[in-house]
Amino acid sequence: MRFTFIITFKRNLSFKCLQCGRCCRGYGAGVRLELYRSDIEFLSSFARDGKFFHKEDGLYFMSFKEPEHICPFYREGICILKKDYDFFPWNCKVFPLQALEEEEAQSTFIVGVNPEAEEHCPGLGKGYLVRNSLLPELIRGLVGIKLNDDPRSLPLEIALSVSEIIWL
Ligand code: SF4
Ligand code: SF4
Repeated sequence: MRFTFIITFKRNLSFKCLQCGRCCRGYGAGVRLELYRSDIEFLSSFARDGKFFHKEDGLYFMSFKEPEHICPFYREGICILKKDYDFFPWNCKVFPLQALEEEEAQSTFIVGVNPEAEEHCPGLGKGYLVRNSLLPELIRGLVGIKLNDDPRSLPLEIALSVSEIIWL
């Protein structure tokens, strides 16, 4: 199986998380955090009743606290999953990137910057080149999800060997 990634952000885009926590507060409900099998397994390990996530149309999402729309793992500017367990849900790991699968072309993804992040994230334009940091992780994760339902399942070399990257 082959995968195609069409990249819509500029090659020189850079990013460094400044840990402002705005995305963990959902930018006012603009961000939804989809969770995958390995995320669910981890979260279930210390909350068996599943109170931190819910299912919608067959997909799992983090249950943000309303009405403020705050992630249940956000405490005073810090992600306690990262701090106490060195764990990020995969979508937090690749944020502010997002990938949309083309409906008409199987296994083709349009990869860009989350529009909410484009507007609100102060880390964009700082730090490291996204093409060398977040993009490989995103490709590894999406191929892992497609092949094994798990974004953490494949070594990067294997994911890249079945992928074509096209820059717009
Ligand atoms: S909004 Fe951007 S800089 Fe702030 S915590 Fe989220 S990813 Fe990091
Ligand atoms: S899991 Fe952590 S990084 Fe992800 S939204 Fe929640 S607090 Fe933020």
